[in-house]
Amino acid sequence: MYNEKMYNLGNKRSVIRELFEYGKKRIAEFGADSVFDYSLGNPNVEAPKEINETITELLNTLDSIEVHGYTSAPGNLSTRKAISKNIKERFNFDIPENNIYITSGAAAALTITLNALSTKDRAEYITFAPFFPEYNVFTNAANGVLKVVPFDEKTFTPNLAAFEKSLSAKTKGVIVNSPNNPSGVVYDEDTIKKIVDIIEKANKKFNTNIVLISDEPYRELVYDDIFVPYLPNYYDNTIVCYSYSKSLSLPGERIGYIAVSPKLHMADAVVLAVAGAGRSLGYVCASSLFQRVIEKCINVKVDIAAYKKNRDLIYNSLTEIGYQCIEPKGAFYLFVKSLEEDANAFSDKAKELGLLLVPGDDFGAKGFVRLAYCVSYDMIKRSIPAFKKLYEMYQ
Ligand code: PLP
Repeated sequence: MYNEKMYNLGNKRSVIRELFEYGKKRIAEFGADSVFDYSLGNPNVEAPKEINETITELLNTLDSIEVHGYTSAPGNLSTRKAISKNIKERFNFDIPENNIYITSGAAAALTITLNALSTKDRAEYITFAPFFPEYNVFTNAANGVLKVVPFDEKTFTPNLAAFEKSLSAKTKGVIVNSPNNPSGVVYDEDTIKKIVDIIEKANKKFNTNIVLISDEPYRELVYDDIFVPYLPNYYDNTIVCYSYSKSLSLPGERIGYIAVSPKLHMADAVVLAVAGAGRSLGYVCASSLFQRVIEKCINVKVDIAAYKKNRDLIYNSLTEIGYQCIEPKGAFYLFVKSLEEDANAFSDKAKELGLLLVPGDDFGAKGFVRLAYCVSYDMIKRSIPAFKKLYEMYQ
């Protein structure tokens, strides 16, 4: 009657969803001030004013079919040209418009890319813990398997010796997410170079062309002018999966893109496979209106000062209390060491004080909890006494 695998996916409530439901119940019982919801990565910083202005302008100046009609499958040529120019200006790297495929956000960019790459035999993809849990769902749906490389608990960077060991003749791709969800860590140039060296060595050893998949929805959300290496500049076989969900605070509008490096092995064929995967998954085209919006707002940026202010408050307050965490350099997440071995039990205790913290197990990091600090500054301030109380419960 139905697909068991899909049923299980639909039936399994995510921990984040459970926390969200709990938060709603608690608010109904004790009021909004009783919940400090750090569960969801939904940007609280407003979309730049240029976005709404552009939407209004487009609706007032274009006819209905131009705004709401189908676009070509990879997206409007003018939008792809604008993206290509933007990449060249910012990273000094040429990705022609024909190698750009506009998608409904990074999730679609990833599923399309994985489906475009996976061949008949189960392909192996490698990622570095802690990682975005949907990678498991996306790789499985693309007939692949995800292998997870452990991390160094001091720096939250990949354990490179374990990475080297995990590569094999079956490895199809390596997924890198920096700035990282859930740790907020940004991989520096040295780390990227080391990752690339290891992949190059494996390519020689196994006679493969492993693809580096750069999942980068948080590229622009970095603090203190930190440098985020652009991976196509370091490794030829690279595909970038980009999203405007966080960089322009537009997660519900579903807009992003895939950029296939022209230096990728058999790049022209892969570009066609990307188009075929998008077609077979039924994406048809990305939002027509938002393709036009991002084209006009290609240089617009969200104001990240509010995230930085939040980061400083939550990081300084928690470390002062005695919590252990690494200072996030990007994204809007803080990954905190649980005060007991089982982060689920810790999250349950936090819940009793109204603190909604996501256990790290699904992120491949047991013993940690994730806080999404894309929330109001005021809520963070009000939550600090609860964090103190929670800490004292463990002393
Ligand atoms: N990749 C990572 C690491 C994410 O954190 C998210 C969303 O939170 C996504 C991909 C999916 O983002 P999008 O909204 O662009 O589909």
